[in-house]
Amino acid sequence: MAEPSKIMSMNYDNSSSLVFINTLEAQEGLQKEFKISKLDNPNRIYFDIENSVLIGEKQQLVFDKSNIKEIRLSQFTTNPDVVRCVITFEEGFDTNKVKILYLNGNIIVRCAVPQITNDYFNIMYDDNPQNLAYSSIAVNSQAIKKIPIDINTGEKSSANVIADIEKAFENSTLNNSDGKSYESTISIDLSSALKLRTKYYINGIHIKNNGFLVNGLGQISTTKMFKLEDPKRAVIDLPNTFVDKNLRNKEIKLCSDGSCKDTVKIGQFEYNKARVVVTSDNAEKYIPVFAADAQSLFFINSDKLKHTDLVSNVANINKAFVRKIDSKTNELILSFTGPVVHSILRQDENLAIYLFNVRSYNEQDLIKTFNNTYYKPFTLSLLPQIGVRGTLKLNKTDIVKIEQSIDGKAIKITIQQGIPDRQEEKVITKKSATKGKVVIDPGHGGSDYGAIREGINEKDITLDVSQRVASILKSKGYKVAMTRDNDTFVSLEDRVNFSENETPEIFVSIHVNSAVATDPRGIETHYYHDYSNDLAKTVHSHLIKEIDTKDRGLFKSKFYVINHTTVPAILVEMGFISNDEERAELISDKRKQKTAKAIAEGIIDYCKSQSK
Ligand SMILES: [Zn+2]
Repeated sequence: MAEPSKIMSMNYDNSSSLVFINTLEAQEGLQKEFKISKLDNPNRIYFDIENSVLIGEKQQLVFDKSNIKEIRLSQFTTNPDVVRCVITFEEGFDTNKVKILYLNGNIIVRCAVPQITNDYFNIMYDDNPQNLAYSSIAVNSQAIKKIPIDINTGEKSSANVIADIEKAFENSTLNNSDGKSYESTISIDLSSALKLRTKYYINGIHIKNNGFLVNGLGQISTTKMFKLEDPKRAVIDLPNTFVDKNLRNKEIKLCSDGSCKDTVKIGQFEYNKARVVVTSDNAEKYIPVFAADAQSLFFINSDKLKHTDLVSNVANINKAFVRKIDSKTNELILSFTGPVVHSILRQDENLAIYLFNVRSYNEQDLIKTFNNTYYKPFTLSLLPQIGVRGTLKLNKTDIVKIEQSIDGKAIKITIQQGIPDRQEEKVITKKSATKGKVVIDPGHGGSDYGAIREGINEKDITLDVSQRVASILKSKGYKVAMTRDNDTFVSLEDRVNFSENETPEIFVSIHVNSAVATDPRGIETHYYHDYSNDLAKTVHSHLIKEIDTKDRGLFKSKFYVINHTTVPAILVEMGFISNDEERAELISDKRKQKTAKAIAEGIIDYCKSQSK
């Protein structure tokens, strides 16, 4: 008898019409057909997966807004090894509709025919990373209840995997290379951690064909690739992704035969974001290729690319649909005869999609479909030895989203037309300011504590210093308006609206910095629009002269309050609460007064220079 198949975890898609039972790896011996047994009171079905073992715990999910009420997966017997899945439906649900199929290492239970809606697609790529926040994808409309489950004493190997994921969530074990701090604990629902909260879990990197394959559990999504110099690197971030701790930050050579010096490194960049860095003199040549099941990602030097390295199955273009969503948004769905292997290259003014296992399409049909639509300029071309490339000219500000259907047989390309950069500049124009009037914006407040260390809150320091700045300015004859003058919550939008109504000469936001590491210290001054640069320079130089700490310099940062303010606006980070020494100084009367004096004098200097 073949080795038992290892059943890993359960997952469901956002439409609640599909349930996935994932195997640890695609196993030859895994049963591909299943017998469904029906039971009444409650209305339920069950089916057995023969010769299989459930890795880790019994799993149970309870749904709130679905025809499915509950799914249970458990080791039914151990001699022989049988895993049983029981699905309970709402009363009256027709269980004859339930179908089970085997696809790419997943057993998929189809409880209803999924519609071609957003729920049917997984996001593979998005220009707007906010759309990939795990809260919006991983647990969507359904409320998942946690049910206490006994730990299966038999098989322990997935306990390690779960422990690793838990560790990945704890920022204490992470190098947060963005220098920002994150919530110290995030709870994980162990019964569903692998799939529901963990969008993608990277547990393997394999060097292949002078490229590398990133392997894992869950579904991959990516953001725009970017390039760095000295040394030349190609960087791609994977949101909602955890990297096995044994794989993190290891430099791996891509040419084992020494024919190139290219290397790859994968790190846990933020608590739910992985970063893949390829260092190569040909960094610009590396492209990400998505497997049809969206569970692995292949990076390869496009010069060395041949479709035969990637795929054996052929998937031709079947049909195309174009739909106008609103005046700015259009979508194109390409459907294929089989699961398609593709790559997305989003450049500033161009989008290229490579379809590696497509050998043919009906050009006349496509021309007809695209005609008189937004996608009319979308051109397809057959590339020998590669497949089909589709290209479309875009504006830099257009927002591209690419999704692939769960069965891998459809790709949706949604493009939201952005505002061309020139117009964006026009929208933001300086309003006539009230001379000698200053808006001071103490960071955070009320339920928003800002950074917290050792019981010290950013919101208290910012208010204290802001009040001191206000009082110095008033004593010199300036009018001062404060976005908050006590410990209350004010949204970023309200801060901007307040300032816009006040029409001050300038806007100054006051904050305290923080980092995960305890050694960073010093002062930063941030501005965004060029018309705020002089103000930033003037205030910053006063701060650096007055206070004995590190000069971390000026930053052009797109912070909400300084981006949306139409008068010169800056944000001062007056020191690090995360540095023990600097924190002690920041709460001292002496440092607060010195900081306030420097900011006020910088403001006065700047305003005087403007009235000359
Ligand atoms: Zn802050």
